[in-house]
Amino acid sequence: MDVRIRPNIIGMDLAELTTRLEGMGEPRYRAKQVFDWIYDKAVYDFSAMVNLPAALRDKLRSEMRVSLPQVVQTQNAADGTSKYLLQLDDGQHVECVIIPDMPRMTACLSSQVGCAVGCAFCATGQSGFARNLQPGEIIGQLLVSQQIRGERLTNVVMMGMGEPLANYDNVMAALRLMNDRAAIAMGARRFTISTVGLVPGIKRLTGEKLQVNLAVSLHAPNDHLRNQLVPINRKYPIAMLMETCKEYIAAVGRRVTFEYVLLRNVNDQAAHAHQLAQLVRGMLCHINLIPVNPVSEKGFSRPSEQGTAEFARIVRGYGVEVTVRKEKGTGIDAACGQLRARRMR
Ligand code: SF4
Repeated sequence: MDVRIRPNIIGMDLAELTTRLEGMGEPRYRAKQVFDWIYDKAVYDFSAMVNLPAALRDKLRSEMRVSLPQVVQTQNAADGTSKYLLQLDDGQHVECVIIPDMPRMTACLSSQVGCAVGCAFCATGQSGFARNLQPGEIIGQLLVSQQIRGERLTNVVMMGMGEPLANYDNVMAALRLMNDRAAIAMGARRFTISTVGLVPGIKRLTGEKLQVNLAVSLHAPNDHLRNQLVPINRKYPIAMLMETCKEYIAAVGRRVTFEYVLLRNVNDQAAHAHQLAQLVRGMLCHINLIPVNPVSEKGFSRPSEQGTAEFARIVRGYGVEVTVRKEKGTGIDAACGQLRARRMR
């Protein structure tokens, strides 16, 4: 059987694998044994799964596969941040980034090949949308990163290439599998879903009542500016987005993070800071200010350190919690989409 036709066990949940193995005449507990090899022992070769009968290993080899994305490029920064360009089965590429912030080791994973949203400052948006990632391709990014680094990753942020809520079902399937005790067993509170503000997706997530963290890329405090920076705002304007975030907070009881990329002379003025604070004041939330990592084609630049500090000071003055994202990955193409964009040229 062609290798790509054989179903990949990475991405299947335990129930699906159990059904498949039962269909091959195997007892149910074999599925758990295979999961233990993959997720507990990081063994991806059927031949090495020595507590399975030899005949079953042969059968698995001919009918299924355990396949991870292939690493085609690695960039390592002095602070321990690594960025991987990964090739998928169909030759498409995605990026994932590993960010050490002890005691956390966070994996920033992609949810789509490219992105259709087209935010003004984003390298991924520039190269357009190709397709959604399958659950196994999302989990595969985590597993291959753990394999390279030889350590377990503790947190996942869906903040790489793509808009996770535009690939809702596959992202949720991946999160459930990561959360499953039989698989990666990562607590829901260790996941963050970052969205540009797809209101229907946030509403669906609210209905799940999962303890995942929600990060919303706001980037502008008024519709006029946000329409230019984040075009989806024309469909889901700020008032609607804020209402939806309040519903999420009320249902899940967790604070929402608003991401705000600071662009010099675009959205970093004192008036913007006052507007931003007035917008979120009183909500269970925090603002994460991110001085832009410039993508040369777009010509944005970051504010000075003093400018960033002053912006934060104004927002804090309203009693709103603010952090400024620590610079990570200096010296690598840290903005998402840059490695893939280079490869496409
Ligand atoms: S910032 Fe996110 S949502 Fe916007 S274009 Fe880039 S990947 Fe897509």
